[in-house]
Amino acid sequence: MKIYKDLSPSPRIIMTPGPVEVDPRVLRAMSYPILGQFDPEFTGLMNESMEMLRDIFETNNQWTYPVDGTSRSGIEAVLTSLIEHGDKVLIPIFGRFGYLLQEIAERCLAEVVTLEKEWGSVFDPEEIIRAIHREKPAIVAIVHGETSTGRLQPLREIGNACRELDILLVVDAVATLSGIPLKVDSWMLDAVIGGTQKCLSIPPGMAPITYNERAERKIQQRKKVERGLLVSGSPVSIGGHKSIQSNYLDLSQLQDYWSPARLNHHTEMTSMLYALREGMRIVLEEGLPARFDRHLEHERALVAGLEAMGLTLFGDSSCKLPVVTCINIPDGIDGESVRSMLLQQFGIEIASSFGPLKGKIWRIGTMGYSCSKRNVLLTLGALEAVLKRHGLSDLGGDGVQAAMDQYAIVN
Ligand SMILES: *Cc1c(COP(=O)(O)O)cnc(C)c1O
Repeated sequence: MKIYKDLSPSPRIIMTPGPVEVDPRVLRAMSYPILGQFDPEFTGLMNESMEMLRDIFETNNQWTYPVDGTSRSGIEAVLTSLIEHGDKVLIPIFGRFGYLLQEIAERCLAEVVTLEKEWGSVFDPEEIIRAIHREKPAIVAIVHGETSTGRLQPLREIGNACRELDILLVVDAVATLSGIPLKVDSWMLDAVIGGTQKCLSIPPGMAPITYNERAERKIQQRKKVERGLLVSGSPVSIGGHKSIQSNYLDLSQLQDYWSPARLNHHTEMTSMLYALREGMRIVLEEGLPARFDRHLEHERALVAGLEAMGLTLFGDSSCKLPVVTCINIPDGIDGESVRSMLLQQFGIEIASSFGPLKGKIWRIGTMGYSCSKRNVLLTLGALEAVLKRHGLSDLGGDGVQAAMDQYAIVN
């Protein structure tokens, strides 16, 4: 019989746009005993988690709960539950995750209209608003923080315009939830998907979502399937062209499970819910404004350090996403070799990118529990050393010093 070694993941400093390091409090929470899914103690935790999530999304939406699965399960749940065959969906794209919205909307048989921006910039809201007036879509779907390019799309004006025209606005806020301001209600966002393994800093495996009554109305209109027939095993009533294709991701059924009626759907992910609750408790203890400030503080130190090293940042600086910093890989440097030396010799992980940016930029995430002074200083020091080994000889340790100046570290 083959003997497998004990599991012993190496200690890492994770400076990517997710998954990021997790507070030991969250890891401990995941090791607690299982409770039954209808045990009042567990349903109490579910209710509390909805409450906490409302605070973090800055919303009063009743339907604010996690979908079980990674962030894209939340995106897919929202789109598959909202989009009816033939609905026109407008998708402004400025990076990889915009294409994910497009792909999912097309699978939902939407009539998809896209707008595209060169990677590294975002849309002027007016451009999108003009397209909304021209196309008159049923739904607009857009990314808030595009991690592939490190850009942040302003949403407030788009929210206003969609509300005026009675269009539903769906937002992928996977990368931004609890890292930078995201005001679901005051920006008039109708359905928003967050992430766990990014700024919320819990393991991947859940997708917190929130949606308002406008979104709920569209979902409920489609719910023609009688639950009784479903239970009796007859599929004949399913599959009308209005009905929601997915069972697992059907928000009308998920919300019944999260409602006081507790209609059975899947089995809630017990240990992940413990993790989510503990992770959110940490966020709320820190306070959202302080948490946003912390993300900005470490971004500033990181950027000061990188620039002092003579590196240049990728993309339009006026729309930089504070939690992801994209660096142009210097000419003649093998980006993958640098990343690999950082990981092998220092235990530090930074990210590459996708599509047109593959091999051109590195991405450093400063998210959640990973977003700390220690991590920023260690990453800068290690990157400096590794770049020197790769032949960039004029680096003199200025990066770490500049970051220390930014932190106002004196002896
Ligand atoms: C990470 C990310 C996703 C996908 O998340 P998964 O958890 O990998 O499914 C979607 N959108 C954005 C903006 C992301 O940063």
